[in-house]
Amino acid sequence: MFKEWLNEHKKILMVIPLLIFVLIFLVYYVTNLEAPDYIKMVNDITPQEMEQITELRREAFNYALSCSGIDVGITFEDIRWFIYPDREIHFEEGSNYLDLAGWYDRENNAIWIAYPYRKTRWVNAHESLHALGVVGHGSVFTNCRLLAEQQP
Ligand SMILES: [Zn+2]
Repeated sequence: MFKEWLNEHKKILMVIPLLIFVLIFLVYYVTNLEAPDYIKMVNDITPQEMEQITELRREAFNYALSCSGIDVGITFEDIRWFIYPDREIHFEEGSNYLDLAGWYDRENNAIWIAYPYRKTRWVNAHESLHALGVVGHGSVFTNCRLLAEQQP
């Protein structure tokens, strides 16, 4: 009985492993599409793009200076800027998760911007405000319109 059934469905049964293989390949392919190699992307930034990024950072810093009116003697050149090779900067605080577009590392006076936001003006200006000494996200941020919820 079973043998007969097997003989009858031989062709279909042979196709199943092939379908499974195709499915695994598709899942692998799609998964890789969703996880770009950010380290490579950061390394592949051309000198021309880096120039644009530096220019944008400078403008963002100057905007932070002028909108806040903060004058503490910190200049653009005092800050170290880095592009973070990931979609976002991931933080874990206890059981809380935070995904940030940018992060100011006070200890090292460094601004980290996640790769997709490298040319996003408000993120660069937002972190510049932190670098100018603004702690938390109070009225200075609101007045400068540099909060995430104020962005279109
Ligand atoms: Zn912030």
